[in-house]
Amino acid sequence: MTGLSLQLKEAVAAGAQNLTLRVSGQAEQAVSGPIRLTIEGGILASGRELTTTDNPNARWNIGKDTENYDLWLGGVRVTKSNSEDILGDGTASFAPRTNTLTLSGVRLNRQEQTALRSQLPALTLGLAEDNSLRASGTVIDTPDLTVELADSRASLTVLSTQGAAFAQTPLLRGVEEIFAGASQNAAAFTQSWNFTGGTAYVRFAAHQWEKTWRYHSSAHWHACTHSGCPVVSDQQSHDLGWIADEQPYGTTPGRMHAECRVCAYQGPQ
Ligand SMILES: [Zn+2]
Ligand SMILES: [Zn+2]
Repeated sequence: MTGLSLQLKEAVAAGAQNLTLRVSGQAEQAVSGPIRLTIEGGILASGRELTTTDNPNARWNIGKDTENYDLWLGGVRVTKSNSEDILGDGTASFAPRTNTLTLSGVRLNRQEQTALRSQLPALTLGLAEDNSLRASGTVIDTPDLTVELADSRASLTVLSTQGAAFAQTPLLRGVEEIFAGASQNAAAFTQSWNFTGGTAYVRFAAHQWEKTWRYHSSAHWHACTHSGCPVVSDQQSHDLGWIADEQPYGTTPGRMHAECRVCAYQGPQ
């Protein structure tokens, strides 16, 4: 319940048939604006009717709360009532206090004009898991956008079949790897975050490092598992030590070779 002045006391009691709302205080503390009492959807869906008792001091205006946000995802307008589960499958939610739209495994492949559209003054697109948005026109059309990967497993793939992936260049947080191009097949690794009308495909991700070492004659490193990604991690010179292959016996000399203590590289015999 909201809208009461601080001095007023509220009491809500629910019985089998009736719900009583009692507001008490001094007459001079009366509220001239509306007092908002929200009744959960589950109660309204129970089939009970909403009626009120006549009271000359109260005016009732019973209606469905239809607070809409200037935000559409997959053709669905985000409202106060669907904001916790916009698409009905638990993959998308919106927090109006922080203007954060969170996607966790969203797959939008409907042939809509846009997949995500907003006129909110600023929007943060928080991402968990792999997400893919596809549309025929500008896929993500919102001003002042921040794209934020929640962890290294999160990614966002944006594909326009006839237009551009983004209307504007977003601010990026947690993004380590960008592939962008005129199509998915033409996408290449890029450091540039400036998208143009020709950028129809964009993929934001974090690197995934291979478990095994790669090496050449002087160094070892971990490669990224994403095909076409040139970035490497943990690159260092070998840490060579001598390993005995055969112990010397009598006049027969022993044999040994150099081997890196970190990777599997074997140096000269
Ligand atoms: Zn990578
Ligand atoms: Zn090595």
